[in-house]
Amino acid sequence: MPDRLNIKNLSPSQIATEIAEMGEQRHRTRQIMQWIWQKGVASFDEMTSLSLGLRSRLNERFRIPAMRVAGSVSSGSDGSQKFLLECEDGAVVEVVLMEARGIFTLCVSSQVGCPLACSFCRTGVGGLERDLSTGEILDQILYFRLYHIPPRRRFNIVFMGMGEPLLNTANVFPALEILNHEDGFALREKRITISTIGLPARIKELEISGLKAGLAVSLNAVDDNTRKKLMPAAVSIKKTLSAAEEYAVSRKMRATLEYVLIAGVNDSPEDAGVLASLTAGRPFKINIIPFNEWEGCSLKRPDEKTIDTFIEILLPTAPAVTVRRSQGGDIGAACGQLRADRNEYGL
Ligand code: SAH
Repeated sequence: MPDRLNIKNLSPSQIATEIAEMGEQRHRTRQIMQWIWQKGVASFDEMTSLSLGLRSRLNERFRIPAMRVAGSVSSGSDGSQKFLLECEDGAVVEVVLMEARGIFTLCVSSQVGCPLACSFCRTGVGGLERDLSTGEILDQILYFRLYHIPPRRRFNIVFMGMGEPLLNTANVFPALEILNHEDGFALREKRITISTIGLPARIKELEISGLKAGLAVSLNAVDDNTRKKLMPAAVSIKKTLSAAEEYAVSRKMRATLEYVLIAGVNDSPEDAGVLASLTAGRPFKINIIPFNEWEGCSLKRPDEKTIDTFIEILLPTAPAVTVRRSQGGDIGAACGQLRADRNEYGL
């Protein structure tokens, strides 16, 4: 029955509407969500707390597909693992699982490909194939929660894989609702980070939605000319920083500014000075990410001395500065390197 709907794409209120239309009691919604998102069942038959009649009616109307693991590679150097997950239509996305000091972090995708075409990002090369659905976004997380992360262990979700999450709010927002929901993944604000090129109107939408997620904005330059060259779809730095600041103030948490450090492009001591003065006293954290080189891109990672000098200039005045010596470099799983090459997985 190919026209049955994927139940994983339904928000809690959409499931509740279905349940009401079937004349069932309200608490069935909670049970169904728990079966799908906490126990990870693959069929309605397994939902043993529901009557046989309800199970069969659900089965007539819905299906419960799961993304298939098409391959995986482990990093020899830092233990991170990259997985290739295949959707029902054959589209593939990559998910990276990292562990540091006992806390797992999952880097997930929001789109297949990406329309933004940032010059330093490998995902941008092929453009956008399509948006991921709510169920597909969550399936990336469900799979790891069930099979790779020990039960009850804390984990973080970062939307820093393929795609621009705020260009797919129709599916990312319902996914966040289920990530936050006590019958879903029950994850709090501090455990989820939406990383965006910085689209002020969309950041505002996230802010007023009440959905719980932290915000990271990819700043990557301190003057608009350089930023526009790196990220043609970006709005002005002033607007980007105001949007991030407003979000941070309204949520009473700092917003992260990501800054990919690229040799000779945005890594001078002057750039560091401007970054420090742009951010001083504001509710930000700065995350410096030395550029991960990839074949086909002429940009280079700065040498260690340049990176150190940049950070030393920032430290005294800029808010909390961290350097992400990105994991997964040896398996092409470092930030912005996610682009499934099936050969790499031996497929
Ligand atoms: N579209 C979103 C999320 C995907 S990119 C965004 O723009 O934030 C996630 C992060 O990876 C961004 O901060 C981006 O600047 C960074 N990134 C992309 N390519 C990179 C590369 N080759 N090396 C280092 N960081 C990269």
